[in-house]
Amino acid sequence: MELGIGFAVGIFAGAVVSVIVALIIAISRRAIKTSTKTRIVEMKAIADAAVKTTAKDTAPDQPAAPAGAKPEETRRPGRNTIVVGAIEQRDQQLNKSIQEVRDLLLQLATVISATESASGEAADTFSTARRAIRNLGDVAASSELAEAQRVLVEEIDRVIRSNAKLHTELDRANQGIAEQRRQIEELRVQARIDGLTRIPNRSAFDERLAEYISLLTRANLTFSLLLLDVDFFKRVNDVYGHVNGDRVLRGVAARVSDAIRQNDFAARYGGEEFAVIFPATDVKDAYQVADRLRQDIAKTNFRLDDQVVKMTISGGLAQAQPGMTAEHIIEEADSALYQAKNTGRNRVLVAGVNKTERTEKTT
Ligand code: GH3
Ligand code: MG
Ligand code: MG
Repeated sequence: MELGIGFAVGIFAGAVVSVIVALIIAISRRAIKTSTKTRIVEMKAIADAAVKTTAKDTAPDQPAAPAGAKPEETRRPGRNTIVVGAIEQRDQQLNKSIQEVRDLLLQLATVISATESASGEAADTFSTARRAIRNLGDVAASSELAEAQRVLVEEIDRVIRSNAKLHTELDRANQGIAEQRRQIEELRVQARIDGLTRIPNRSAFDERLAEYISLLTRANLTFSLLLLDVDFFKRVNDVYGHVNGDRVLRGVAARVSDAIRQNDFAARYGGEEFAVIFPATDVKDAYQVADRLRQDIAKTNFRLDDQVVKMTISGGLAQAQPGMTAEHIIEEADSALYQAKNTGRNRVLVAGVNKTERTEKTT
């Protein structure tokens, strides 16, 4: 019960923490997105202004040549022609670089707003843009362009820093979530273990039985079920006390666990009763294991300080038949157990063999 409450509280706490972490991440991403977009609009405006200024600077200052004037190539070549050619070349370079920067900016905006999981991709793009803008410094001349470059570098640096911070926060959040998952899984496992005997409990048994019933239905895979009950256990409590009764129960559980094969599944069914599922095993083979266990327990000396207690168990076995439900097979095994009790105890009986009507059991 306490374990169940602990488990529920654990799941709830895990869910709350996960929601808070998700909210923090969403809010920080949104903040970065919004501020970055605003700055990018500003940057584009500055870059546009720089492009226009450069275009204006490189446009011919004079009005169009009057009609009848000599074409350019027929003019006499001089010092001025060489200077104009060099400026044109530099301006072309500038225009190309500015265009590249604008393209990169557009890419950045797309990357930032495209997907929430793109932070790694964004960091790469920002670094590329930063390098491109730094290289631009060699040819940047106009003050507008220098300003555009300064703002871009500053902004990209800021975004790279935010991105790195976001990465660190994400890593930390992921670690927190992994730890939560581990704790929840541990609670889940604990919730299926019996506190006294440390073997699987009734919930774990019900779950496992449902799995085997499902396999029976889907794949026609049979299994056998054994229900065990310690004989006259009440007397142990009465004579040696409840604490000693607990010690004997732990001893019986250990014997059951030791006796079964690796693929078999044993659980405490409740009180002084245990259940074993034998997967892919017919009732004949299951009987061999069950009866060996019975004999083993009958021979065991359960030591309580300076006293020795002898115990026996009774068992009922049933094999899963096509179309059976979990309730059916439990009823069959329980009915065989009832008969084992009724016919003298310290025995394992198989359902359907020597079947008699269920009557009051004799103790
Ligand atoms: P039978 O052979 O007919 O099964 O007799 P029995 O005495 O074993 O059966 P009964 O149902 O009369 O008594 C079962 C006893 O098991 C009563 C209950 O106090 C005891 N018991 C159940 N769970 C625990 C437990 O966790 N610890 C202890 N010490 N005793 C328990
Ligand atoms: Mg009982
Ligand atoms: Mg009993």
